[in-house]
Amino acid sequence: MDIVERFLSYVAFPTQSDENSSSSPTTEKQWALLRHLEQELRQIGIADVTLNEDGYLFAEIPATEDAAGPGGSEPPCVAFIAHVDTAAEAPDAPADPRVVAYEGGDIELGHGKALSPSRFPELNRYVGQRLIVTDGATLLGADDKAGVAEIVTAAENVIGSGRPHGAIELCFMPDEEVGLGARRCERSQFAAEFGYTVDGGRTGDYNFENFNAARANVTFTGIPVHPGTAKNKLINALTLAGLYDASLPDERPENTEGYEGFYHLLTLEGSSSGAVSSYLIRDHSREKFEQRKRVMEQKAAELNERIGHELVRIEISDTYYNMRGIMEQHPRVNELALEAYRACGVEPAVAPIRGGTDGAVLTFKGLPCPNLCTGGENFHSEYEYISVEALDKCREIIEYLMTHVQ
Ligand SMILES: [Zn+2]
Repeated sequence: MDIVERFLSYVAFPTQSDENSSSSPTTEKQWALLRHLEQELRQIGIADVTLNEDGYLFAEIPATEDAAGPGGSEPPCVAFIAHVDTAAEAPDAPADPRVVAYEGGDIELGHGKALSPSRFPELNRYVGQRLIVTDGATLLGADDKAGVAEIVTAAENVIGSGRPHGAIELCFMPDEEVGLGARRCERSQFAAEFGYTVDGGRTGDYNFENFNAARANVTFTGIPVHPGTAKNKLINALTLAGLYDASLPDERPENTEGYEGFYHLLTLEGSSSGAVSSYLIRDHSREKFEQRKRVMEQKAAELNERIGHELVRIEISDTYYNMRGIMEQHPRVNELALEAYRACGVEPAVAPIRGGTDGAVLTFKGLPCPNLCTGGENFHSEYEYISVEALDKCREIIEYLMTHVQ
């Protein structure tokens, strides 16, 4: 099947996940795409396809008999992984995605929105290409249905071509956008020795490092007194929360980039008698990450000292870690990917992810798993788009990997 036709068939399924749900998948509607994929994988000639009760779809294409390399050893089994859900920041499932031959300038999307190079200068890279865009009312879903379409099309081509290849595993997961995707599957469910998530952005992007992440909950207890007679007695919990936040280093998401870590005040709830702030702590360096946690504890202790009461309490729990340290023990996994990019005429842009990935979680479960590009832009928004050429190039990279791993 043509990759554009396939991609458009996937984005027609609404698959938004829901962080407040405890079912798996978190939303019923993700099943429809998962079941569609289950059928489609069988149709393209894969016999071993399993959709489990939690909504994880696994498929394995056995190695061809002529797969063994010159040394006579069989190539390792490699997994290709993508997620079927979409983010909550914009409504899902575009009613009217369009393919536009882009000649530069603004593209009127509809619903009062336009894709303009003045706001998105990277559009200039795509002059002369065909862009798949939304109607301005929803996200497109290239994150990560482009990844799914690229993997399925690459697998179909590899099977159809009769070329020799090692064992190939495909895995499509729900709920990546709510941080649950890889958390609810186990290393033992994979036959692969290593894998790649196909969940990155622009063609050429390659990621094998991500943030170390923790969450801090800071509780402020007030001492309530009638405000008319409060002098030197009342302690306002909200004032404490403000003082605490102001005492932290000014390293916040809005003024950091690249390898710079941050403290992010995510929520502040409460009243003058009691309040709770929650923070995200992020840093690529494990050492600086640990330091940031100590700074938050120290600032809480200093505030308690300053007010003369133990009214500030902090609890910190780690969420995920940077996969870089583990990936460095498996250099061949990165080398193979970068070799595939170059063989397909793409110069790799290796960059640290300012977030986490399903692959980072899987890496810590024992399946080394860096992240390949999908070719998409402006994820999680109505301005999301992907070019037909990028979709096909990323498919080519995956196909190269499927047939060249030795
Ligand atoms: Zn994604």
